[in-house]
Amino acid sequence: MLINPPTGLYRRDDRCQSKVDDQTVRVVFAPVDLALLGAIARQAGAEPKVCDYPALNQSEGVFIADIKTFRPHILFLNSTVHTLAKDMELVAKARDFDPGILTLLHGEGVVVQAEKVLRDYPQCDAILDGEPELTLREIVTTVPDEQTLWQTPGLVCRDGSGTPFRTGKRPLIESLDILPLPARDLLNNKIYHSPENGKPLTVIQAQRGCPSKCVFCPAGSMFGYVVRERSVESIMAELKECVEKYGITNFLFHGDTFTLHKPWLLKLCDAIINSGMKIHWGCNSRIDTIDDERAAALKKAGCWVVAFGFEHGNQNMLNLMRKGQRAERAFEAVSICKRNGLLTHGFFIAGLPWETKRTLQQLYLYARKLNTDFFDFNIACPLPGTELYNICLQEQLFVHTDSSSYAHAGVRTLSLSAEELTEWRRKTLLKMYFRPTYVARIIIHAIKTGTIKHYLAAALSRVKNLVKTT
Ligand code: SF4
Repeated sequence: MLINPPTGLYRRDDRCQSKVDDQTVRVVFAPVDLALLGAIARQAGAEPKVCDYPALNQSEGVFIADIKTFRPHILFLNSTVHTLAKDMELVAKARDFDPGILTLLHGEGVVVQAEKVLRDYPQCDAILDGEPELTLREIVTTVPDEQTLWQTPGLVCRDGSGTPFRTGKRPLIESLDILPLPARDLLNNKIYHSPENGKPLTVIQAQRGCPSKCVFCPAGSMFGYVVRERSVESIMAELKECVEKYGITNFLFHGDTFTLHKPWLLKLCDAIINSGMKIHWGCNSRIDTIDDERAAALKKAGCWVVAFGFEHGNQNMLNLMRKGQRAERAFEAVSICKRNGLLTHGFFIAGLPWETKRTLQQLYLYARKLNTDFFDFNIACPLPGTELYNICLQEQLFVHTDSSSYAHAGVRTLSLSAEELTEWRRKTLLKMYFRPTYVARIIIHAIKTGTIKHYLAAALSRVKNLVKTT
């Protein structure tokens, strides 16, 4: 039984681990990671069940009822640093019902503190470290054999005396094509919608890894510093299945640096164009991996929006966070997208330790000048295992560890309080939304694309959320 537990809507499989409601564009993504693990479990001879309780707004009671009726041998949970304690309460309840369930935990924020988690929570048997697919396959295959089970590489578990130990790193999967297609028949695909048009939306995991080492991001430690792409053939097979079998035509191509390898990207776009499939999709990029040729191909293949981590307009801040990019280059990236008919989504980060009132003002002016179609101002939220986390510990910047999120600062900077950061974000977002030219632009776009109803709903919920946080 593979679950997102009923302890809050978070981007559990993602490097950011953020609360869904903290994001400008509120979108609940299908747990394709769990569907992929479901396919793996099936290949290994199990009969898997996938449950995304928060997406269905289902309570703990439903979870317990499922445990009682489904009677899993293995319970696999996606956890986050924010939900760990509550997730573990649920695991304890499942264990009360059936002490024989093997309980496995996964999640970027928990892996780095795995030994502590195992010491604090006896109800958790093991934590999967690194890419979980091949580890889970081995576990499912060996589950009746306790001796062999605890030799599976890629686990943090307990030895005979109860002391946590690591079974050894599992190498990164060399070719992602060895993985099966996600078992989408295990998902309730209809509940995941595009916020733009309300149609069913799913995620395609096209690649893994990122060569950059931004201080706040765990991408590299999760999936390595070398980008591994799936073959175009494998991605096309998945797209075809989504369109033909599940009627899904809206996609997010998940990949930390989707536009990095130009020949692969152009080949994929060509394949989509030649297939004749009419799909509508978005992707992530970096400002130094986009040019006219790539943007034109994206547009022709059905891409409508490209997201960039601009992060900050102050070059010194960009250098300190090791983003490895020039603030000025962002203007060129946005222009390239605009002239090729692509909308842009900008991500900005505020509240890194070196942030001051002056740099916050620079950030606001930078975002205004970039004038992207969508934007997110995220407050730096140090995840265990990142360099940012260590800096914040060293400088004693943590103040509200429990309530820390992208919307509510849990850390102060060297010169600003956590409350100042939270308030700055709220006011700045409202100022950005209520620019008359911005409102007009979005309304025109929504009318042209027949999506006004969805934009209005998104705008109302967003503004309500921001006003509520006063
Ligand atoms: S570029 Fe930086 S923020 Fe983006 S995925 Fe890579 S390490 Fe993370």
